[in-house]
Amino acid sequence: MNLACSLLAACERHPELEAFPGIPYGELLPRVRRIAGGLGVDPGERVAVVLDNRLETALLYWAAQWAGAVFVPLSWRLSEDELDYCLGDCGARVVLREADGLPAGPEHSGELDRDEREISLLLYTSGTTGRPKGVPRSHAADRAGGWSQALQHGYGSADRTLGVMPLYHTMGIHSLVAMHLVGGCFVPQARWDAAEALRLIEQQRVTSLYLAPTLFHDLVHHPDLPRRDVSSVRALGYAGAAMTSTLVRRCADVFSPEVFVNHYGSTEIYTFSIGRDQPAKPGCAGRPAVNTRLRLVETGEIWAHLGSDEAFGGYWNRPDADEKAIHDGWYATGDTGHLDEDGDLWIDGRVDDMIISGGENVHPLEVEDVLAAHPGVVEVAVIGVPDERLGQHVTAIVVGEASADELDEHCLASPLARFKRPREYRFVDSLPKSASGKILRRMLRDETRAEA
Ligand code: AMP
Repeated sequence: MNLACSLLAACERHPELEAFPGIPYGELLPRVRRIAGGLGVDPGERVAVVLDNRLETALLYWAAQWAGAVFVPLSWRLSEDELDYCLGDCGARVVLREADGLPAGPEHSGELDRDEREISLLLYTSGTTGRPKGVPRSHAADRAGGWSQALQHGYGSADRTLGVMPLYHTMGIHSLVAMHLVGGCFVPQARWDAAEALRLIEQQRVTSLYLAPTLFHDLVHHPDLPRRDVSSVRALGYAGAAMTSTLVRRCADVFSPEVFVNHYGSTEIYTFSIGRDQPAKPGCAGRPAVNTRLRLVETGEIWAHLGSDEAFGGYWNRPDADEKAIHDGWYATGDTGHLDEDGDLWIDGRVDDMIISGGENVHPLEVEDVLAAHPGVVEVAVIGVPDERLGQHVTAIVVGEASADELDEHCLASPLARFKRPREYRFVDSLPKSASGKILRRMLRDETRAEA
């Protein structure tokens, strides 16, 4: 079944339920058909969209699926150069940059017979260096990703999710697809603003939050929180980056969720693993997800099998990237991890972020988790800084009030091995982050190098 057919089935199944606030499934289909008619594209052609997470963007996604076109959502945060590169690379037939005046035409009859293995979506990964890479995703892969999310986050037709993770990122698209597969409601929020998110949660009775850890951090520390009714929220999930144990506990306290999962995945293969019970094992990435096989190779890197129903089939126009990432049917994630005594997976960090200090490996996430538990620390990133004697020394970049001496004492009193303690602390006002909430460690490393 392709995504046009999926949409049709959902609209036939429960026309009375809300697909978006104020728009029942029964009204969604005619709207999508008119927009699809106005796009004027042939099946397989690329429709590029540079819009934030407004309702129109989600409607355009479904219209592209209805027309059998390839939806190419591009970040509004890209520079003109990057945008030009992506538009040229994908060979966009149509480019939409204005939310006003959605295209409208005669109702499109729908490409209902399109092969589900055809491409439905092209996402550009937000690599921190080099050219962005196009990741083509098939109808079948995104449907499988949507179903696995619905199953593993426990969604049903009564669920309403906050649609604020960018629709140009795999989390945003799968939130939309998962909700509409099960007959739930997608509550769009155009751009991140924690006060507005709290207002929407209360007003729209949002039941499920699937966000990057940074966004949870903003929500649970917001001054409006005590005045807002967030009791409708029953399911929490985070992805895109690791969450500290301190933040897991705070989220569990604030929302008392029935479901609280860590969803470890990527654009290339949507879900790698699921840590099912975060309050019980904060930060744990758990077991391979329903469609996935994982293995740890000798270097400690995590590889995922490309036989997953959720997997891509290789990058767009990038044989060089395929060669680097794909080995004998396995996808090299670039992440390192280890298993605990229960056989559960823990992510240690990116292969490139590993610090080697005095010949010992130090994983930034482990040190960050300890530092984040100090009450004076708002946020922290740990990086390796070139050091004549040690090769690299561990440096903590901290947002918060605590002093270097206090933090060092805190580390000494923690289970962290002594040699992993930061040798240097730097205090800043904020940390650079990508749209999916990843701390841009490479940028921090470059900055410290430039200062040295
Ligand atoms: P992206 O394709 O932009 O979603 O990035 C995928 C990468 O994000 C993964 O390879 C990990 O490095 C990181 N990532 C995604 N989810 C998690 C998670 N739950 N915990 C830790 N890192 C994550």
